[in-house]
Amino acid sequence: MRFYKATAFLFPRSYERRVLFFCFGAVHIPLIACIVLQAITGQWQPATLLTLLAATLVGTGLGLAAIHALLAPIGEATAMLAAIQNGERIPVVPAGGADLVGRLLTGVTMAANETAARIEQLVDAAERDPLTGIRNRRGFLDSAEQVLRGRSNAVLAIIDIDHFKSINDEYGHDTGDQLLQSLARKIEDYLRRSDICARWGGEEFAVLLPDTTLDEARLVMERLRATVALDTGLGVEDRAVTFSCGLAPVRTFAQLGDATKQADAALYAAKNAGRNQVHVTGS
Ligand code: GH3
Ligand code: MG
Ligand code: MG
Repeated sequence: MRFYKATAFLFPRSYERRVLFFCFGAVHIPLIACIVLQAITGQWQPATLLTLLAATLVGTGLGLAAIHALLAPIGEATAMLAAIQNGERIPVVPAGGADLVGRLLTGVTMAANETAARIEQLVDAAERDPLTGIRNRRGFLDSAEQVLRGRSNAVLAIIDIDHFKSINDEYGHDTGDQLLQSLARKIEDYLRRSDICARWGGEEFAVLLPDTTLDEARLVMERLRATVALDTGLGVEDRAVTFSCGLAPVRTFAQLGDATKQADAALYAAKNAGRNQVHVTGS
């Protein structure tokens, strides 16, 4: 380590050039020794000098090429460390040998993948609702931001279970939880893969339908509402439950806050109109 630090002034940004520099110097020692000896004795032997010079040049070329190739795994390990910092996974694990560099390579690869997996788990835990297993509000906003990038024709739906408090009161909190879980599964199963569904809070769910007009979204949510209203298998004994829903168009991610207010207002109107219905903003 001391030699490494002491020689850091030589090519401070390139470890490889420093190694090549010393290799270059070491390979030239026999040639220099021969020149010095012949100068001291005054007996110049041009054929010997030329042969030695040619051999030194070939040795230098081969030595530098071999060292450059042998240092490649260290460059690869460094690139993998940069990938760790970006939270990326290493798709192809380079096979290292049993030597020092091989162990370094294997160690860095394992560390990179373990770190990436841990980051993925943390992000997933932070963005998922523990009760229902679907996205929470943060997960919804994260996914919505990606989906709405470059698109302008989406619809936001806010779903709110009707009289949920009385279900809790009548059947107990566990039954309420069971209903939230089965309704979350039902909504997710019903939607397209490109739609985003999340538990918005308490007994409310949010759905973002990309590339969908308000009319299409109203039809989709109306069908879901009717299916749920007839489903007696959602966990509240053999009773069906209903929900109300408010819809609003979303053009950009920046406009999602306004769309949420509009969808909430439509939901409020649906509740006031007697519940178990889908309302569109402004209608
Ligand atoms: P409305 O038809 O007007 O929407 O009436 P509601 O009873 O559904 O609405 P309200 O806001 O009065 O009650 C919501 C209830 O949801 C109150 C709260 O205790 C319950 N709740 C919120 N989160 C959970 C949960 O995670 N599990 C259970 N079991 N209940 C929850
Ligand atoms: Mg509510
Ligand atoms: Mg409710």
